[in-house]
Amino acid sequence: MNPAPTQLTTAPANATSSASTEPIAVGQKRDSSLKPAAVSNFIRQVIEADNASGKHGGKVVTRFPPEPNGYLHIGHAKSICVNFGLAQDYNGVCHLRFDDTNPVKEDVEYEDSIKEMVRWLGYSFDGHLYYASDYFSKLYEFAEHFIERGLAYVDSQSPEEMRANRGTFETPGTNSPFRDRSVSENLALFREMREGKHADGAHVLRLKIDMASPNINLRDPAIYRIRHTAHHRTGTTWCVYPLYDYTHCISDALERITHSLCTLEFEAHRPLYDWVLARLVESGKLTLPSPQQIEFARLNLTYTVMSKRKLIELVETGLVNGWDDPRLWTLAGLRRRGYTPASIRLFAERTGASKAHQWVDMIELERALREDLDATAARAMVVLDPIRVVIENWPEGHVELCSAPVHPHDESRGRRTFEISREVFIEREDFMEIPSKGFFRLVPGGEVRLRYGYIIKCERVEKDENGRVTTIVASYDPATKSGTQGGRNVKGAIHWVSRSDAIAAEVRLYDRLFTVENPDEGDGDYKDYVNPNSLQTVRAWCEPTLASAAADQSYQFERNGYFTPDRVDSKAGALVFNRAATLKDGWKP
Ligand code: ATP
Ligand code: MG
Repeated sequence: MNPAPTQLTTAPANATSSASTEPIAVGQKRDSSLKPAAVSNFIRQVIEADNASGKHGGKVVTRFPPEPNGYLHIGHAKSICVNFGLAQDYNGVCHLRFDDTNPVKEDVEYEDSIKEMVRWLGYSFDGHLYYASDYFSKLYEFAEHFIERGLAYVDSQSPEEMRANRGTFETPGTNSPFRDRSVSENLALFREMREGKHADGAHVLRLKIDMASPNINLRDPAIYRIRHTAHHRTGTTWCVYPLYDYTHCISDALERITHSLCTLEFEAHRPLYDWVLARLVESGKLTLPSPQQIEFARLNLTYTVMSKRKLIELVETGLVNGWDDPRLWTLAGLRRRGYTPASIRLFAERTGASKAHQWVDMIELERALREDLDATAARAMVVLDPIRVVIENWPEGHVELCSAPVHPHDESRGRRTFEISREVFIEREDFMEIPSKGFFRLVPGGEVRLRYGYIIKCERVEKDENGRVTTIVASYDPATKSGTQGGRNVKGAIHWVSRSDAIAAEVRLYDRLFTVENPDEGDGDYKDYVNPNSLQTVRAWCEPTLASAAADQSYQFERNGYFTPDRVDSKAGALVFNRAATLKDGWKP
């Protein structure tokens, strides 16, 4: 069982940054630069202690080191926001470094998409874009240095032998029969490896640390392997490639990273990280202070799977429509769905950085979005499931203009105008022939206000042969126009659009992609929990102001949620909207 997912009910206490300390209330007016209240996390405490002691001369240099072998997801966004966010808060810099040590899996397409999404989140890496492959020469030079000092050897065991001799958590490993090769033999062999004289897998270069260490990572870890594969940046220059643990700490040191933040599964790798750097400092190859590795818990979000393999599988098996399917929690998917960078930064900040394993409820992500959009999104009326209303005492051909604020709390954004005419559309669910208790919207013989328009009364209904209501015949009270003096009010007010100026749109309504909180749990395959009803498409009628809606613009469709034009499929004249989120508390008629 996983621990119950966290719902963050209050703004975090102990805000330490001047960014913003006010608690965030839903519905509160904000500008679009929504700044999250800074969470007091333990990483800030480390940085502040280092700044106080002058360890790094007051500098903060972090890095985000993705492997270009997949698209970024919300878990990566968390890491991006922690790294870039901390750098920003302490006037430091954050490097984007592609961990491109594995020539087999990497791809330029992924690289481009990663850069695009980091920028989209609002962070700049101008002048600070790096590649682990930039250091291949240096890493090789250092490897020879380790050999010369008797701290590395070429092992010619088969991969199976190496695995068997590694030992287990309970039992120590066994020294390789090649462990005591002479320095000159090791150097000669390593150079032959580099020159391409040996096949993939024939040898590896290993550090000579301790095969009996209780920490398996210190049992002579391999640091170089042979791969006769071209690399997308270095071409065929190399046929030996450095492994992650060795590359990562040295890359950090060469870039003079101060705080190297990673997820908890690297905790047991930290002694190796420190060992490699300490040896290079000893011989003057690197200088102090060394970067400090700090681990925090990875983000787990309910109703998602984060593994790259599973994401790839979802896309490749067609369970979703591509990497940017709005049901996915990839950043490309979230952006297309209508998530804003500010909402993702807010979410990342709120979920904090801690050592405790963390499951966060999907509700938190949705809440962060609503908070941002409630303050910023223009309002519009859209009827998702239309039913026709004919106002019989409205003169044929007569049209009047109505108006409503673009944003209810910001008059400076002006007003939107739309028509009202003899025929309007309302939401089918806003009418009940036999009303349930507490239903204050339209009922036979009852009145309701068309928001920003008039009060209408249902006189009778027309039905088709199946008994389904096809038309509501109504009357209106000419003395009740919104915004005019002397108007009276009724309990219910509903949204609507006029047949005379409404524009049609396709609207895509999403539900969670999985039916269970943790698709990875349980006995079945996670794919068994895919929600067959995660996408519902409807034909809607929209108020005319939406004709100019452009991707990256968010709207609150009154009472229906937050929507954005689909950046791929929506075109002028053929609008397609995605619902990013429903309205939290629903609309109380
Ligand atoms: P893999 O290494 O298995 O290919 P990964 O998800 O770790 O997958 P990377 O490209 O290595 O992918 O990730 C880049 C950075 O993002 C790493 O520093 C990693 O720790 C961080 N990261 C990845 N997933 C999460 C997560 N769920 N929460 C927080 N940080 C994450
Ligand atoms: Mg990784």
